[in-house]
Amino acid sequence: MGKNQNESIEISVSPADLYNEELILSKAASKLKVSASDIQEVKIIRRSVDARPRRPVYRLRVKAIMDREEQDSAPGFMPQIVNSERKVLIIGAGPAGYFAALECIQQGLTPMIIERGKDVQARRRDLRAIQQFGEVNPDSNYCFGEGGAGTYSDGKLYTRSHKRGNIERILRILVEHGAHQDILIDAHPHIGSNKLPAIIRQIRENIIACGGQVLFQHRVVDFVMEAKRCMGAMVSIEGGAPVDIIADAVILATGHSARDIFELCIKHDISLEAKDFALGVRIEHPQALIDQIQYNQRKREENLPASSYSLACQVSGVGVFSFCMCPGGLIVPAATSPGEMVVNGMSLSKRDSPYANAGTVVEISQAYLAEEGFTGVLAGVDYQRSIEQAIFEAGDGSQRAPAQRLTDFVSHQLSGDDMSSSYIPGVYAAPMHELLPDYISQKLREAILAFESKMKGYLTEEAVIVGLESRTSSPIRIPRDKDSLMSPGIQRLFPCGEGAGYAGGILSAAMDGINVARKVSKHLA
Ligand SMILES: Cc1cc2nc3c(=O)[nH]c(=O)nc-3n(C[C@H](O)[C@H](O)[C@H](O)COP(=O)(O)OP(=O)(O)OC[C@H]3O[C@@H](n4cnc5c(N)ncnc54)[C@H](O)[C@@H]3O)c2cc1C
Repeated sequence: MGKNQNESIEISVSPADLYNEELILSKAASKLKVSASDIQEVKIIRRSVDARPRRPVYRLRVKAIMDREEQDSAPGFMPQIVNSERKVLIIGAGPAGYFAALECIQQGLTPMIIERGKDVQARRRDLRAIQQFGEVNPDSNYCFGEGGAGTYSDGKLYTRSHKRGNIERILRILVEHGAHQDILIDAHPHIGSNKLPAIIRQIRENIIACGGQVLFQHRVVDFVMEAKRCMGAMVSIEGGAPVDIIADAVILATGHSARDIFELCIKHDISLEAKDFALGVRIEHPQALIDQIQYNQRKREENLPASSYSLACQVSGVGVFSFCMCPGGLIVPAATSPGEMVVNGMSLSKRDSPYANAGTVVEISQAYLAEEGFTGVLAGVDYQRSIEQAIFEAGDGSQRAPAQRLTDFVSHQLSGDDMSSSYIPGVYAAPMHELLPDYISQKLREAILAFESKMKGYLTEEAVIVGLESRTSSPIRIPRDKDSLMSPGIQRLFPCGEGAGYAGGILSAAMDGINVARKVSKHLA
């Protein structure tokens, strides 16, 4: 028995047997060639759906524990009271800001987080105002407010940036703050926007309990600079006259939509670089149709998750790809200022809406922007804004979004007004092939045809294009010194997270927050 002790092995079960502990135990025992009574516990450490066989199966990586010498993993976050003289100002309460704050506490530093938006609960009212009345509060919306852009999202927790940090630890921290244990084993974990706010609130409460501060409706309107040293920030509190907040270091984690922060960087000679990004539309299918294509089942079997897809191709050397797929999800209005049309996707934990949506976007290079007459470091921001505003102006002044059946988009025809979409403010029929710049429209068209050949049934009149998906990633990078992670030439300023160009999702932003906080600690030691 010795050589098999606590070994990890892979077994397969049907979706119906996902929770059949007896069967899982007997399969593990038979694979290990031991008796089931020799195994004290079978621990699932990874699970994924394999949709390649005729009927999908679950692949489970399990550990058969035979001598309970297994230790529970170390906690992700160890609360401790900080009463440090060294105060770190963190601008932005998104995943980068909150995980930077947790790590500051681990390092014995006192975090003070300031956030332009409201706490998760109060933020809901402003989301309702966008949904129902088309009113966009520039400080509190789907991108701004406690938890950042990830709060009312799908809560997908996967990243390709495995080398940049300890993903498992971040997932453990989320579980310690109320996320379901399943995220520790699922190959494609997600939380859902009905569960995320409570988790974020618990993180905030933990930060405060440890001696940190979290201040809402505190919008940074300027940096406090002294001879190329960032001493803190000038902050407007609930729209009032600005006050200076001074700290020993400043972590700038304001996300990809804080365009005013990019302007402030220019004002203070904080270096910025233009960065490629992507822009396009959301494409929404009936979830049952995607299930039929992916699982070969029109009615999804019990215990199978709403299925997803990931598609990519090159059109004339330019990448076009699906992005932030939300199975069983909803399309949401994600503008951060009045007069813009921006959409994004979210889902609830059960992913049980009848719709499947995904961003479908075209890479935007600096060369293309220059051809279009957009130059300078803010070229990408100016381009994003110009299309968001043009698409808004084509509408009726509300947040109703322009839409077109996928088949009509490909054949350049206007659709009827009878399209079905999850987008709550509603959609209206519009010639998306004309509203979008030709460059985007043509590449999307080619890509949709290519996607149909990869995934039969994708190109259907049941699918609808909704615009505009423009906030996929930051069009700007705020460069950092490789070793200190400080802005080059500006002491004490640490650009962080997605807005600085070092993350592309919740997990990578959290990882960057942790890495930056460690560097701050080193700097202040
Ligand atoms: C609708 C939607 C769905 C998404 N779904 C997913 C998903 O399922 N999975 C995933 O991995 N990613 C998802 N994303 C992307 C993800 O949310 C971001 O990558 C992530 O939140 C970036 O984290 P961050 O902390 O760097 O920035 P952000 O989350 O953008 O946080 C920045 C914070 O800074 C604040 N701020 C900005 N300016 C100021 C200022 N002047 N003063 C004070 N505070 C300021 C903002 O209010 C905001 O709260 C989604 C995004 C959206 C919009």
